[in-house]
Amino acid sequence: MKKIAFIGAGNMNGAIISGLINGGFNPEHIIVSNPSAEKRLALQAAHGIKQTQCNIEATTFADVIVLGVKPYLIEEVCQHLGKNIDITDKCFISVAAGCTIKQIELALVKPCTVIRTMPNTPAQLGCGVSGIYANAHTTEEEKAFTTTLMESVGIVKWLTSEEQIDHIIAVSGSAPAYFFLFMEAMQKQAIAYGFSEQDSRELVQQTALGAAKMVIENKLPIGKLRENVTSKGGTTQAALTSFIDGGLEKLVSNAMNCAVDRAKEMA
Ligand code: NAD
Repeated sequence: MKKIAFIGAGNMNGAIISGLINGGFNPEHIIVSNPSAEKRLALQAAHGIKQTQCNIEATTFADVIVLGVKPYLIEEVCQHLGKNIDITDKCFISVAAGCTIKQIELALVKPCTVIRTMPNTPAQLGCGVSGIYANAHTTEEEKAFTTTLMESVGIVKWLTSEEQIDHIIAVSGSAPAYFFLFMEAMQKQAIAYGFSEQDSRELVQQTALGAAKMVIENKLPIGKLRENVTSKGGTTQAALTSFIDGGLEKLVSNAMNCAVDRAKEMA
């Protein structure tokens, strides 16, 4: 079984560690490194994994290294590793937004496997989506292992170009917040009708959950599901016409393009 080092004991690495352990991965084969003791000790206490404050010690222990620090720290962390230890046989998996494979390869100095994955926040509940792209050094075995790793926190989509990472940021990475915004607007209107804060929240969240389940469990196209619940001349049609007349579709595609543009600027 491969050994994994998690560089950074934050939210995303914590979610992946938790998913792996719940899936039966041996905790003795996992090490986490983090400069501050509190977070790494908490992960050790929760999962029985190894911990260290030293990224070099963690990387030396492992075959696979998951880079889970903030994007602005990725190059610094990789340079430190590449300059101080032999990393040529290691597989690096970055979960950082806005840091390209080329930047990571250059920072690591020596040629090795670099994989980028873009999970989203629901990974913390085990129902995330991760887009993955790998550099030319990556073996089929490393790809299969990365699939298993990221499936521990949700579903996985392999991408055909690194550019698609920017697209997946727009489609799923940033997207939970689009739904939050929509639900927030609905909750505000429900409150305006006189529902309490709690009741309006429950009405909106249960409706969102039900709608998502209908999309998942029915194999019909999403547009067909919408048609099926829209009677001619009825209340739903009145609301949908207002959305369409207000340019919702264009608004959504513009918003997603803004996320893509920002991802490109950040890389
Ligand atoms: P976080 O702040 O919770 O975790 C980062 C951790 O890195 C912190 O515990 C910090 O102490 C530690 N750290 C700082 N410097 C370090 C160093 N030199 N060596 C080792 N550890 C160090 O952040 P997060 O939300 O888990 O995000 C981590 C990465 O995951 C980011 O690059 C982010 O782009 C990516 N990501 C996060 C999410 C999400 O939902 N949280 C989604 C997609 C991608």
